[in-house]
Amino acid sequence: MNGRQSSARTLRLVIGAVLALVAVGSYLGKSSTNALTGEVQQVSLSPEQEIATGLAAVPELTRQYGGNADPGITRYVTRVGERVVSRSAAGRTPYRFRFVVLADRSTINAFALPGGPVFITEALLGRLGDEAQLAGVLGHEIAHVVARHGAQQLAKSELAQGLVGAAAVAAEDRRQAQLAQAVSRLVVMKYGRDDELESDALGVRFMAEAGYDASAMVDVLRVLKAAGGGGAPEFFSTHPDPANRIEEIARAVASVQRGGERNAEAFRAALADRGEARQVAAAVPPEAKEALARIAAGGPFPYARDGVTFENREGLLPDQPRGYYREYTVETPGSTDRGARRIVVGRGGERYYTDDHYQSFTRLQ
Ligand SMILES: [Zn+2]
Repeated sequence: MNGRQSSARTLRLVIGAVLALVAVGSYLGKSSTNALTGEVQQVSLSPEQEIATGLAAVPELTRQYGGNADPGITRYVTRVGERVVSRSAAGRTPYRFRFVVLADRSTINAFALPGGPVFITEALLGRLGDEAQLAGVLGHEIAHVVARHGAQQLAKSELAQGLVGAAAVAAEDRRQAQLAQAVSRLVVMKYGRDDELESDALGVRFMAEAGYDASAMVDVLRVLKAAGGGGAPEFFSTHPDPANRIEEIARAVASVQRGGERNAEAFRAALADRGEARQVAAAVPPEAKEALARIAAGGPFPYARDGVTFENREGLLPDQPRGYYREYTVETPGSTDRGARRIVVGRGGERYYTDDHYQSFTRLQ
């Protein structure tokens, strides 16, 4: 099966799931009271249906936006997101949050799907300065979920209504086209001014409840404003005039507990790890990564000379006492001997790669 067929199939599955949910006509046009905000809302989906709809769209959207980022940074963002959820009122809602870091390094964006999936691009992460700012962005997106803004948009879009009919009568390819549109709409949906202000205020509340310094939300708006034409994040592109919005956020910040954590160091470290992993990936062949993994695991090593002292006779590496450096083979496919590729490891954890038998080195970490 080629890529195109397989992605068409994935889309059809996503679409099928959305369709099945949307087609439950008894929910259409019903209003309900939001347990968190107390607002009476027109939503066509139950919370369970919102969750299933959002989850079904995750793989296709992840693929469209550059795929998953490095697992390390995803774990870190998930930890921050789960902290915001579990320590705030968002944790007492039926929604099931999950956090996806998208490998897109040029589009500054974050968005949420109905029911709980929250996405943030690497490009946006790179603009932020500390963990509290990240908590602010996630808090704002979490707020869109719990306030059911996405589900309301779907209800308003008439698309949901149309799909019920389509499900009954349309040929498969037509249904598919309509549902493809529905899935992509989940992302480009523009919320209204009131929805954005509500998410700002709720986001501030959630991050403060989670122990973060809520004034970081003001920084986020300033950072994105300064970034200017670098993209149009959901977070920033929509209506409320930034100055006005910052004022509203400052008011919300004044109403919650002062202080809280910033965690600038942890944030920088998580991003730096990601950078290192990327450098290693770019600089070395796959056999070097295998050697690095063997070194990290303490063996087993394929050659008897793996782990012997590297003398640094050429003096290309920083001067250190004898025995400080050790060398390990990086296999060369097709070579009948050890070849010319090595990893040199310093006692301080440094890693160097050479592919010309110590004539030149690339520092990996
Ligand atoms: Zn928003």
